[in-house]
Amino acid sequence: MLIGALEAGGTKMVCAIGKEDGTILEQVSIPTTTPEETIPKIIAYFKDKKIDALGVAAFGPVDVKPGSETYGYILDTPKLAWRHKDLLGDLRKELDVPIGLDTDVNGSCLGEVTYGCAKGLDSVIYITIGTGVGVGVWVNGKLLHGMLHPEGGHILLTRHPEDPDGGICPSHHNCLEGFASGPSIEARWGKKAIELIDKPEVWELESYYIAQALTDYIMILSPQKIILGGGVMHQEQLFPLIRGKVKELVNGYINTKELADIDNYIVPASLHDDQGIMGCIKLGLDALES
Ligand code: ADP
Ligand code: ZN
Repeated sequence: MLIGALEAGGTKMVCAIGKEDGTILEQVSIPTTTPEETIPKIIAYFKDKKIDALGVAAFGPVDVKPGSETYGYILDTPKLAWRHKDLLGDLRKELDVPIGLDTDVNGSCLGEVTYGCAKGLDSVIYITIGTGVGVGVWVNGKLLHGMLHPEGGHILLTRHPEDPDGGICPSHHNCLEGFASGPSIEARWGKKAIELIDKPEVWELESYYIAQALTDYIMILSPQKIILGGGVMHQEQLFPLIRGKVKELVNGYINTKELADIDNYIVPASLHDDQGIMGCIKLGLDALES
């Protein structure tokens, strides 16, 4: 069986063909420009590949509610050319296979739950810290949607007293994405995150915000594992800082075996940055089954 996988991102569309076990047989990357230019290229890639199903994990906000009038539409994205674009409809017109759809971060979460370090668990969160911050939520063995889908990157946090400015999110002065995304690090320190490796104060502050967010997710969702991915989390020195601060913030209020073994509780993504595309394979498989 061959499954198509489309990781539809704001800067690039990763298209791949994979197998049930998560193996990726081939993969290409198409720049995300306008829908008129990009969508035909995606269709051309999948058209003659004899896929049995397709899984799509899309940038958002995106309507992931089957049955909704705008199911499969990209919603109020700042990428104006894609606003209210019926992405799923365009794919369905040209590709005659079942198509599964979810958010990009839910896709990554599903990849880790199906093929990676969270296999077998029923409550897991996946957080990406990159150009933006997003949270994929797997609860009671299902991806969480709700009225739209969670926007865990925009939870409100307490600003550090020594962090003079608010965050850079245009909608919130004090949200996680505004404080801790790659671009916010660059705005605050005047250099790209990768050029700040030897500045401990950068990672101290970064971990201050991430740990607050994780503590809130722990309190609300009670995940059995927390996975951190995205470009910024390649800075491995963040992990011990985050774990230490989460322990302080939880402050003994929750005592579980998971929290006691915090090194295996708050962990890096385990699939070499393929968690997103592998999650798409599973979305395709699920669409085939249903
Ligand atoms: P995207 O979020 O666009 O899918 P990434 O997850 O790679 O892509 O995130 C890009 C952001 O992460 C940029 O702001 C970049 O500065 C930062 N970044 C990428 N690689 C690293 C790294 N190795 N260390 C620190 N920051 C990084
Ligand atoms: Zn925000």
